[in-house]
Amino acid sequence: MRIRKKPWAEAELEQNSHVIKNAQELKGKWAEYFGNDNPIYVEIGCGKGGFIRQNAEAFPHINFVGIERQLSVVAVAARRTKEELPNLAFVWSDAKKLTELFATGEFQRLYLNFSDPWPKKRMYKRRLTYREYLQSYREAFGEKGEIFFKTDNRNLFEFSLNEFCADNWKLSNISLDLHNSDFEGNIMTEYEEKFSSQGMPIYRLEARYGM
Ligand code: SAM
Repeated sequence: MRIRKKPWAEAELEQNSHVIKNAQELKGKWAEYFGNDNPIYVEIGCGKGGFIRQNAEAFPHINFVGIERQLSVVAVAARRTKEELPNLAFVWSDAKKLTELFATGEFQRLYLNFSDPWPKKRMYKRRLTYREYLQSYREAFGEKGEIFFKTDNRNLFEFSLNEFCADNWKLSNISLDLHNSDFEGNIMTEYEEKFSSQGMPIYRLEARYGM
C-alpha cells in the first residue's frame, strides 16, 4: 500500500489510546492489558484497520490486535477508530517481530488479508505466507493455531496453498470466489471492497494445525 507521508502520523500514534507504544513490554501480559482472558486474534498488515475495527465491534468478547508496519497507514487506522473499543489495539510493527510481541500461545488466530503479493519471483521470501513466515507463526502459536487468509491475487493464493501444504497445515473452507460462495459472515477489508467492486474474485482459505 503506497500512502503519502502524514505529518500528523507520529502525534496520532502518541496520543491515540488504541495504539500500543512499546508493545514488546506487553509480551506475556496482553490479558492484563485487555483486562480479561478472552481470546486474542491478530491481523498482520491491517492497513487502514477497517476489517479489524468491524470485527472488534461485532465480537466484543474477542480481543483484536492489528499490526501494521507503515507508520502513516497505522496512523490512519488509529485515527479512524473514533469509538471506544476496549477490545482493539494497533501496533506499529512488522510481522518479523511477532515473537517479540507475544508469548507462545498468547494469541489464537492470525488474519492475513490482501498481503502484498511480491510478484517478482526472486522476492518470494517476502510473502507473508512464505514457509519461513509460517514457521515463525507456529513458533508464536505454540501447540495449535489457525490462519485465515484472503487475497485477490491468484498467484499469491497458489503460492500460499503450496507453502501451507509444505508446512503441513490442514486447509479448509477454500474458496476461489468468496463473494459468490455460500460463506457467511464475511467482513470486508478496504482492499477487498476495492477489488471486488472491480469484479475481481476473492480467494480465501483457513489453515490450521494442532486442532
Ligand atoms: N489488509 C489491508 C486490506 O486488506 O485492506 C491492507 C492490505 S495492503 C495490500 C498490505 C498491508 O500490509 C500494507 O499496509 C503493508 O504496509 C502491510 N504489511 C506488509 N508487510 C508487512 C509486514 N511484514 N508486517 C506488517 N505489515 C505489513
